[in-house]
Amino acid sequence: MWPVTGEPPVWEGFRDADLARRLVNRIRDRVARELGGHVTLMEVCGTHTVAISRTGIRSALRGAVTLVSGPGCPVCVTSQGDVDAMVELASRGLTVYTFGDMMRVPGTTDSLETVRARGGRVRLAYSAADAVAHAASHPGEQVVFLAVGFETTAPGVALALRQARDLGLDNFTVYPAHKLIPPALRALLDREEVRVAGFLLPGHVSTVIGRQALSFLARDYGLPAAIAGFEPVDILMAVDRLTEMMTRGEAAVANMYPRAVREEGNPLALQAMWSCFEPCDASWRGLGLIPASGLELRDPWRDFDARCRHGVSTFEAPVRPGCRCGDVLRGKILPPACPLFARACTPARPQGPCMVSSEGACAAYFRYERGDGGDCRGEGSGAAGPR
Ligand code: SF4
Repeated sequence: MWPVTGEPPVWEGFRDADLARRLVNRIRDRVARELGGHVTLMEVCGTHTVAISRTGIRSALRGAVTLVSGPGCPVCVTSQGDVDAMVELASRGLTVYTFGDMMRVPGTTDSLETVRARGGRVRLAYSAADAVAHAASHPGEQVVFLAVGFETTAPGVALALRQARDLGLDNFTVYPAHKLIPPALRALLDREEVRVAGFLLPGHVSTVIGRQALSFLARDYGLPAAIAGFEPVDILMAVDRLTEMMTRGEAAVANMYPRAVREEGNPLALQAMWSCFEPCDASWRGLGLIPASGLELRDPWRDFDARCRHGVSTFEAPVRPGCRCGDVLRGKILPPACPLFARACTPARPQGPCMVSSEGACAAYFRYERGDGGDCRGEGSGAAGPR
């Protein structure tokens, strides 16, 4: 094992079971001896949420470390009003391209899937370039790409917009619903929504925006945080580093994913993103309106905005009665505390996006965590650890 201090090694064994076990033991031992027996951390990435459940990390750390989910699943945080607007676009006979996970998210009355079942032209996209290619080959159709995601996906959408402009397409538009992670974390902390001891930060987003863009967590809020990759040892190394910082009373944002994340991020991706988008206030499921937390098209790209081109408005819409996705996304509860979990709400009959999305916390708990006790009791984070 590497020394307790210093940079993580360049390692081949990110799935090494023996190393993972030793890390688990070290974390548990440290928490027991030096941190009062229990800490609560928040992961802010849907891919982490799934990996933590799928690999058994949540279970292995149970009793010592509670990992609650934050607003890190892009499909889950898309507001009900945006879902309804997307459904309306699809209902008007436009050709709508979407990532697969958006398809089954329930709107107020319909989902994209039910519109498609009635004959609507809703297609799955692997990237925005699929929608551009379709628009180029079907000049008689108006094609809309539903741009959902974080800083990770926005640069690709920007490149697709450039491609559409270069091809002279007048039948391609984008519904801009991108979200930015740093303002959401600020909102959570400013509103004192969460009381967690530290953050496990998203590797994908950090690859684009860089470690620096997240350093405010330590500087302004005095919290430790660690950027993590997605293999079991990646995640455990980050938790290990977090608990180590906590024992020392140290507040820093550690880059535990240096093979992908740089201090300043990816300048080319950032340049592409900011050339087409600018920050705007955005509505998040569970968090409401957060200033400068979304992306809208800047001049001269506004003509590609589907909302303007096709005259669709976004209204605040009520969420489904009983669904507590908003509380799950703020780390207020763990999924089993929702009264609908595994009863009225299952992956086959989802009542909220957190059960639809492959990166949703409810789907991860349903698939990997049912029946093993522990954190599946329910009320989560709340409060268990110091900030
Ligand atoms: S279990 Fe279903 S209804 Fe409850 S919070 Fe999760 S997605 Fe929403």
